[in-house]
Amino acid sequence: MNVIIHRGASEIGGTCIQLSTDNTTILLDLGLPLNKDSRHIDVAALKPDAVLISHPHQDHFGLIDVLDPGIPVFIGELGKKLIDATRTLLGNPLHTNNFHHFKSWEPFSLGDFTVTPYLVDHSAVDAYGFLIEAEGKKIFYSGDFRAHGRKSILFDNMIKKPPTDIDLLFMEGTMMQRNNDLFPEESDVEQKIYETIRSQENISFIISSSQNIDRIVSAYRGCKRTGKTLVIDIYTAWVLEQLKLVSDSTPKMGWELIQVYLTHKQHETLKDHPEFFGDFRQRLYQYRVLKEELQANPAGYLFFGKMSHFRTIDLYKRVKPVNVIYSQWLGYLSCSDNEYYGAEAMAGYQDDPLVNFVYAHTSGHATVDDLKRFAEVLKPKMLVPVHTQHPQNFILISDSVRSLPDGITMTL
Ligand SMILES: [Zn+2]
Repeated sequence: MNVIIHRGASEIGGTCIQLSTDNTTILLDLGLPLNKDSRHIDVAALKPDAVLISHPHQDHFGLIDVLDPGIPVFIGELGKKLIDATRTLLGNPLHTNNFHHFKSWEPFSLGDFTVTPYLVDHSAVDAYGFLIEAEGKKIFYSGDFRAHGRKSILFDNMIKKPPTDIDLLFMEGTMMQRNNDLFPEESDVEQKIYETIRSQENISFIISSSQNIDRIVSAYRGCKRTGKTLVIDIYTAWVLEQLKLVSDSTPKMGWELIQVYLTHKQHETLKDHPEFFGDFRQRLYQYRVLKEELQANPAGYLFFGKMSHFRTIDLYKRVKPVNVIYSQWLGYLSCSDNEYYGAEAMAGYQDDPLVNFVYAHTSGHATVDDLKRFAEVLKPKMLVPVHTQHPQNFILISDSVRSLPDGITMTL
């Protein structure tokens, strides 16, 4: 079997790994890079038999629209729904790829390969690692994962009953060189949110991803403890609706202390796509919060949103400072890509006297200690770093490390 990392051996984002036997070629992820100067991949020239997407983050699926639409793309069903919702609400057409879904822990065949998806805990919902078997070899691709989220049981289960006899482990190493101590657990983030909004005299904003369900839960719990109302946008409300399919315990529209803020543009999009949103638009009205209500009692609200909501933040910067709880990767603040619209203005809030800028975040990625535990139980014959800026540091956690630079073919 031949193995090539097209991109991702020494960077975070833009991951794409190719595995091929004589008869079958598959890709693990086909992501959009986070940096403009990343290695270019000629996607049209790849012609795989299938693509496996580990989770619905752009840096793992973002290039599927340049793939030949006939090529099968395998992704979790919920992940696909969230991607569709994002595109629809942004006014972009849906992907025309040939999508297929899989179920966790249920093996399926792709030509010479047998693939078993493993549901993992990450800051995206519906995230998977993959066990891939062919020609008597076993490869495990970790995808993006962690051991400290609210679904850490998935990691614990894997540690208790790991896949065995792994020849090659592709393991992510996002946290290889970061300070791992600041917010070790999601509960620390919740506490910080609570302390920040507890004595607020103006509105608070929390800037995070609508797909970061742990963070929505933390924001909601912070609100419950202080009697504030959590305000979400239409997209977040829709994401939480989709989660009803897999969990009863995540906050959603209709729960006490949750209201939805309707922007004109998103609302118009809902109107234009009744086939996609069903009766969701009608139900939204019951739970909407009006701009006037926010203005009358700003201290009563915590507004959960993206960086692109920054203009709304400016509306409240009057007499009292506004709380801006920045609750995602700090690296986005220096991203040059348009994908991270609003980053520059957001970065400006850090020194703005009218903004109480607070950082509260725990990573979607495993800490160095957890990566080490994972590598120790999987005992791969070879451990190849991916999704990391520090592949050289992997030797600190395992002695079976072998770096495989982008574009180099290795025969297994
Ligand atoms: Zn990633």
